[in-house]
Amino acid sequence: MLFVDTHTHLYDEAFDNDRDSVFQRIIQNGVTKMVFPAIDSSYFERQHECASKYKDNVFMAMGLHPTSVGKAWKNELEFATEHLEKSFLPSQGVRYVAVGEIGLDGYWSKDFIEEQKEVFSAQLDLAIRYDIPVIIHERSAMDEMFDVLESKSRGLRGVFHAFGGSVETFRRIQKYGDFKVGIGGVVTFKNAGVAKTLEYIPLEKIILETDSPWLTPAPYRGKRNESSYIPIIAQKVAEIKKVDIETVASVTTANAEKLFRI
Ligand SMILES: [Zn+2]
Repeated sequence: MLFVDTHTHLYDEAFDNDRDSVFQRIIQNGVTKMVFPAIDSSYFERQHECASKYKDNVFMAMGLHPTSVGKAWKNELEFATEHLEKSFLPSQGVRYVAVGEIGLDGYWSKDFIEEQKEVFSAQLDLAIRYDIPVIIHERSAMDEMFDVLESKSRGLRGVFHAFGGSVETFRRIQKYGDFKVGIGGVVTFKNAGVAKTLEYIPLEKIILETDSPWLTPAPYRGKRNESSYIPIIAQKVAEIKKVDIETVASVTTANAEKLFRI
């Protein structure tokens, strides 16, 4: 069985002491492709260094994360935009498979929510211009997110990462393009609402992710998360969808490969 972890921050400092051995475990568990979303300029070097070290298995996204939209948002947006634009010039070595992670986060603070909307909107335009998918992070800002999506053409595609919405939300987002949902460790938690929602979401719309080092699945909850736990998430999805884990592996891997063209 082969898997794709469509959302991992293996470049995070949480892995600085043992990244190579973590990487070995990931590969041994069949997770042979990983997507590294960007956060902001302060993570740029780490993300690129780590991706080039494991270049046969890692694909990068570029974008500005909503929680990094603060006083310096204009510079940060310019930074991400320039790197994306540059990568699409002929003969560039770096290839980004998505714009991400982008979106809106009103959970920690709504102080910069208007700026977040502007940044999100500009980055959706980049994805449309370069015809690549988006990796969307939405937390406590659903109405604002639909405001922004409503202003776009319908040609988007991408993933709602760490999806925790209702069936209605899932159906509504399909209006704006071909959107998958990213399912991670939360699905293994007791009484996870998303487990109920998943019953109504076709396997063809699901991709797997860890968001490591965060959102660790049971029974490792509370510890550092890593991509080698993807089969645990796949097993849980298999139980919910009443199929075998091999089916979950092959369908979600094909979904991810098609979405990101990897
Ligand atoms: Zn993330």
